[in-house]
Amino acid sequence: MGEAFAFPVEEALEMILVFHATGIISYANAAARKKLGYEKMEPEDGLTGRHISDIFPNTFKVTEDGFEAEEPLEEEPGNLVMYRKNLTCFPVEAKIVRACTGDYICMANDILEREHLGREIGYVREEAQQAAKAKSEFVANVTHELRTPVNGILGNVRELLSDVKDPHTLKALQLIERCCGDMNKIINNILDFSKLDAGKFTLEIREFCVRNMLDYVKAQHIGKMTEKGLDFFMTVSPQVPEYVLGDELRVVQILNNLLSNALKFTSVGKITVQVLKTAQVKDKAELFFIISDTGIGIAEEDRDKLFQSFSQVDASISRKYGGTGLGLNICKQLVELMGGTIEVESRKGRGSVFSFSIWVGAGREEQSCQAPDDIEAVYRRMALPADTGTVKQEETKAYGTAGNQEAMRKILSKLILCVEMENWEKAEMFMETVRQLTEEAPPEIKRMVLKLKMAIQKEDYDKVIAEYGRLYHDSLDSG
Ligand code: ADP
Repeated sequence: MGEAFAFPVEEALEMILVFHATGIISYANAAARKKLGYEKMEPEDGLTGRHISDIFPNTFKVTEDGFEAEEPLEEEPGNLVMYRKNLTCFPVEAKIVRACTGDYICMANDILEREHLGREIGYVREEAQQAAKAKSEFVANVTHELRTPVNGILGNVRELLSDVKDPHTLKALQLIERCCGDMNKIINNILDFSKLDAGKFTLEIREFCVRNMLDYVKAQHIGKMTEKGLDFFMTVSPQVPEYVLGDELRVVQILNNLLSNALKFTSVGKITVQVLKTAQVKDKAELFFIISDTGIGIAEEDRDKLFQSFSQVDASISRKYGGTGLGLNICKQLVELMGGTIEVESRKGRGSVFSFSIWVGAGREEQSCQAPDDIEAVYRRMALPADTGTVKQEETKAYGTAGNQEAMRKILSKLILCVEMENWEKAEMFMETVRQLTEEAPPEIKRMVLKLKMAIQKEDYDKVIAEYGRLYHDSLDSG
């Protein structure tokens, strides 16, 4: 046997035997010696020197000039029975080939051991799957449980905010409102992350106006940028189409995430957003977004772990700036769902440039899209899924009018249908529309809406039915 192969063959997990045309075994590797019970290598005790029919008595017969196989030796592995030194036997899958030297080489695997190993792997895999399922169910439950009290606090605080006059109390309530908002963002991030992680995330593709979307993103950040004394520029290349097909909310989410980070980690200088069209294949266009800041930057050795989940550059940064380390991972997964990639370039102390690409479909070919008067309101409404019966802005009538009553009736009946079908997620979406429709309602109706919302979030069927009945009666029948 060649020197180069001696070690791998000797140490192989498979049993390997080499035997002569006379049937005399000339070599047995460690696995064969061990499994067949010939651990010692002395000739009188060892495997070498024995006849192959001692090991495979059912397969080979001793003949005058060597051995005879019961069945012709095949190229493919076959099932044989191997005998140990103590004459016990076990099934193997074996392949016997004739080498160019004229010797035979037998390679064999213990079938029972392999099956056992296969079963073990199966158990381990099953356990891992169960653990992963339990983990994601736990995360989903905890986040769900957290949403209920946070929204409970938020709803009540918002209600109080309109009545409170004392500036000290007002400031405290505004702080609580902001904290609840931050908590909601974290909870939503965790929910998005677990959906993406479980492969249960789907994009909602519809037509949108790129420039309006960017205006909305800008409007969300400009206040804080100015507060911090930072310059903020946004440029859109003329080649970028007006209307495209894509998941607008998720593009907004990625931009918001990158801009919030830029804002968080920059104390002087400027933050810029650039949008370009970098490719066109048939009716699909590649849009390229560049978000740069003059902030603290990221060291080269830390850049690789940035897009991993739960990863922050270092503990001192997270202590100082906060965050869960999920944002960039969510961005990466969303960008990849949109067929693109996300990258970062940065110099420590000088700033960072995050860039990402996405593919979008062609929208209508209009020259320019009109920005709505209240862009924020339109986008708030848009945050609801398309087919949930969301009432469009123009259809929304002041609380208590016939139009409003009709819209409420429709949406409440859809909502209760979802509850009957235990589709809590969709029920929550309809609930958001109910909340919008009752924005101008008297406080007692608003309180009912809040109670119904909390019951839905708790997935408490009986309570939902009770609260629903009350709300339906008070907001419609008496209306
Ligand atoms: P987090 O929610 O903690 O901000 P991210 O995934 O968004 O999580 O960011 C992970 C880490 O990447 C941050 O904690 C920070 O250390 C680093 N990072 C992200 N963006 C920037 C940036 N613009 N400048 C400097 N560091 C950044």
